[in-house]
Amino acid sequence: MTTARWPASARYEAPESSAPGGLGFVQDLLNTASLGKPRQPDLLESADAARQWLHASAAVLHRIDPGAPAMPDGLDPGGLRHVVSFRDDLRALLSPGPAEGTAETVAVPSIGTTAAVTLGPGGARLSAQGDDVEALRSYALVQLVAASYGGTLRRLKVCANPRCRGAFYDRSKNCSRVWHDVTTCGNTQNVRAYRARLKERGLSSAP
Ligand SMILES: [Zn+2]
Repeated sequence: MTTARWPASARYEAPESSAPGGLGFVQDLLNTASLGKPRQPDLLESADAARQWLHASAAVLHRIDPGAPAMPDGLDPGGLRHVVSFRDDLRALLSPGPAEGTAETVAVPSIGTTAAVTLGPGGARLSAQGDDVEALRSYALVQLVAASYGGTLRRLKVCANPRCRGAFYDRSKNCSRVWHDVTTCGNTQNVRAYRARLKERGLSSAP
């Protein structure tokens, strides 16, 4: 199998930071945002850009997970708004600490969707439901649930640099990475700001 590169994530991160299986699609969705250093464009900025990303990302997804549902061919303005807010809610859920410029009470969204549970000879199976945007949301959430039960969800992280917020997969032994790239994001200033945020919340951790 040839190495598939997720189109949004490949813009700024090393392949070893890609999440395994279908979780890589969730990471790629997160990384469609305008992120990183240098700043990359938002791939969901327009219907045209979104269609291009969806085609490229779905092609990688279906190679990795042939059972994944069909992704939307394109997005109308309402669909695009839904996918963008879903992406932004996911980032808020995975982000370390309060977002920049907000008080410590951050509204953490809870996101629901429809999925099907079947029990057969192969065991219990959770699968995505719906079409178009709903299929995308359902598939992404099924991947997050599977990762949560499999113990890998804690490895899907959002960079602690508030100016970056890129999603990466932490393969370190003790799951201790906080920067998507320590050379661009883990500079002294960011480390100091990160520690101050932890202290404010009454937590301490050595990044
Ligand atoms: Zn970063």
